[in-house]
Amino acid sequence: MATIFTKIIQGEIPCYKIAENDTHIAFLDINPVAEGHSLVVPKKEVDYLFDLSDSHFAETMLFAKKIARAMDETLKPIRTGIILDGREVPHAHIHLVPIYKSTQSVSLGKKNDVSKERMKEIAKIISAGVKL
Ligand code: 5GP
Repeated sequence: MATIFTKIIQGEIPCYKIAENDTHIAFLDINPVAEGHSLVVPKKEVDYLFDLSDSHFAETMLFAKKIARAMDETLKPIRTGIILDGREVPHAHIHLVPIYKSTQSVSLGKKNDVSKERMKEIAKIISAGVKL
């Protein structure tokens, strides 16, 4: 079954569209955490962003950069933040959130307290898995 974002891409469901090309679309999040909160979506129906091929992922990030730049120039936030969640809609997307003085938080959830020791340990564990 098509995802809700595929339905938006196909024009079956309306959206506040910002921009579109052959492979990507950007539109406003229907439940914004800040004014201008946008979603950048590859048209290819893939659940997890990091499952995209390297070249497709790079294209997605470059498309997101263009949208973020446009948000910076037009909305004049302090800067634009970027978040990847994806637990609600199983179609890869990037959240772009303008950060204003009044923005309460750019996180989509509650922060967890992790000790410095554990942070070090986790960084080491992840680092050991990196293949450059
Ligand atoms: P995530 O999957 O990253 O946790 O969250 C999906 C995001 O998509 C949410 O912030 C939600 O508000 C947004 N969203 C869900 N359905 C729609 C929709 O039909 N239209 C738009 N514009 N945004 C949606």
